[in-house]
Amino acid sequence: MWTIEDSENLYGVEGWGNGYFAINEQGNLAVYPRKEASGGVDVMEVVRRIDELGVAEFPVLFRFPQILEDRLEEINGAFLASMEELEYRGGYRLVFPMKVNQRKEVVEYIATGGKRLNVGLEVGTKAELLAALSLGLGPEALIICNGYKDSDYLKLALKFGDAHNIVIVIDIFEEIFDLIRCSKELGSKPILGLRTKLFSRGSGRWEESGGELSKFGLSTAEILESIRILSDNGMIDRLKMLHFHIGSQITDIRKIKIAMNEAARIYAKVRKVADVEYFNVGGGLSVDYDGSKTPTPASANYTLQEYSNDVVYTLQRTCDEEQVPCPTIVSESGRAIAAYHSFLAFKVIGKKNSKEGLDVVAEEDDPVQIEDMRQALDNMDLENYAEFYHDALHYREELFDAFNLGNIGLEERSKGDLLFWKVCQKAASFADADENDSEEFESLKKLLSKKYIGNFSLFQSVPDMWGVQQIFPTMPLHRLHEEPRVRGTIADITCDSDGEIRSFAGENADFLPLHDLLEDEDYYLGTFLLGAYQDTLGDFHNLLGCANEVHVVVEDGGWRISRVVRGDACEKLLRFFNYDPEERLGEMVARCCGDEGEREKATEMIRKALGEYTYFKKRYLRA
Ligand SMILES: *Cc1c(COP(=O)(O)O)cnc(C)c1O
Repeated sequence: MWTIEDSENLYGVEGWGNGYFAINEQGNLAVYPRKEASGGVDVMEVVRRIDELGVAEFPVLFRFPQILEDRLEEINGAFLASMEELEYRGGYRLVFPMKVNQRKEVVEYIATGGKRLNVGLEVGTKAELLAALSLGLGPEALIICNGYKDSDYLKLALKFGDAHNIVIVIDIFEEIFDLIRCSKELGSKPILGLRTKLFSRGSGRWEESGGELSKFGLSTAEILESIRILSDNGMIDRLKMLHFHIGSQITDIRKIKIAMNEAARIYAKVRKVADVEYFNVGGGLSVDYDGSKTPTPASANYTLQEYSNDVVYTLQRTCDEEQVPCPTIVSESGRAIAAYHSFLAFKVIGKKNSKEGLDVVAEEDDPVQIEDMRQALDNMDLENYAEFYHDALHYREELFDAFNLGNIGLEERSKGDLLFWKVCQKAASFADADENDSEEFESLKKLLSKKYIGNFSLFQSVPDMWGVQQIFPTMPLHRLHEEPRVRGTIADITCDSDGEIRSFAGENADFLPLHDLLEDEDYYLGTFLLGAYQDTLGDFHNLLGCANEVHVVVEDGGWRISRVVRGDACEKLLRFFNYDPEERLGEMVARCCGDEGEREKATEMIRKALGEYTYFKKRYLRA
């Protein structure tokens, strides 16, 4: 008997779910936005509600604002716990870097949910700064400005700085001259920071973000020169922050320890000549996407608590040694805040590569190879399957040759093909039973794997899976008390062969175990941990637009849909790429329609399509 525990092990939910996701008694995926057993949301109940109310077509991006809030509290709590345990004499401030997710709803949830904790924002461009200023953050929250700054960006930051605790971090040495000039021009007294370029680097996919060759940060010589320039201009009292960032998704805790050591030492030295209050450790806190707890790109070998302990401990020790005051620690842990709060739910609308179902009828004048193939199929067992499989390979070659020479027709060729796939399937199942994992049979299994077609766009919704081959856990949202007997991969609906989910978290990294498709029931899959970087990095391949969003909150022992955000209609996509759908409508319709009535209908048809969701609307009839 297959149990939900078997599904749990198979899909590794506990490993990557971090307490927010689990399989419930009904065999459905459940979300626990506050990690409380009593506050679970059965995802399939929400799916049914969405259908009943007709509020959104699939694919639907689910957001859980309370997960964002819980992340803020958990990260803040971890730092406070480390500080208490180590008796650290300084404070902590969490800051959300907007480049991780600029969606208004998301940043608003963070701003609101983080008000009590004075969670701030980090921005990297003037557009992000404008967005941050529009949100009405708490009075104590910091806005940290990084990135390349032109005079518009600098002036905005200077003008609104006093009222908003804006910290201008000098990322590139030359910026300091513009900054001094602009601040004199505006007569403002900015809060300044310096970003240091460490010798130490991160680990994992983004390790180039740190180290001596990194794009941002000042070398030690530039830091000394900046301090001198600020002093000469009577602004050294404005230097309040030291910042570093060694890259995202740091997979190995040792890299963090090494970088912290170096950065803390720089802080201590600078603290002797300037009254620096904030020590900003940047981002990098990783998310365990595959649940393996290893220093591999989709995972990490440390916990949140270990991270905060290391940061706090190193800083405390260095400050003690150097006899300087302990600063307020700032961290910009974007991925760790945002990743968990959203997932994409989509329907399977068909399958490819399905070589079953069609019957092969024997006939008198079948070529001998077809008869032999049939014999192989009938007589195959656990002892001889390899041999019969090899025979079948050979018969198929012969049939191809015969076809190319014009000796057999399409009918025979197709019959041979079908029989061959049946032999392969049977051989693969014997190989399974035999625990035969030789290369030959592994690649046979791969050849036989199914492709389910998911109604979504990988490029729009999971861009890092395409761009940097990152793993995001994917699994069925229901039927988890049934054994999934189909091995498959998931193709999206773009016309691009890269649009396919081919690596998975859990036991079978190259395949996803899937359930058979049923005639009378939709099959739903989810791709998880999409909240960091995926929302705005996605593109509009094939003009597939943003997905519909449904936001869900738990309250009073139940849950409710708190918000629906409509995804893009075709018209929005066209206009985004500078088409005017009305422009040639009349001409186009006139060209293909005879009379007035027909023209009206055609115009109506186009207008309707323009207003529709860009994704596939109905289920395919299945193969
Ligand atoms: C990208 C970035 C971050 C966020 O990094 P995560 O790994 O997502 O936490 C933080 N700070 C700066 C300066 C960044 O550029």
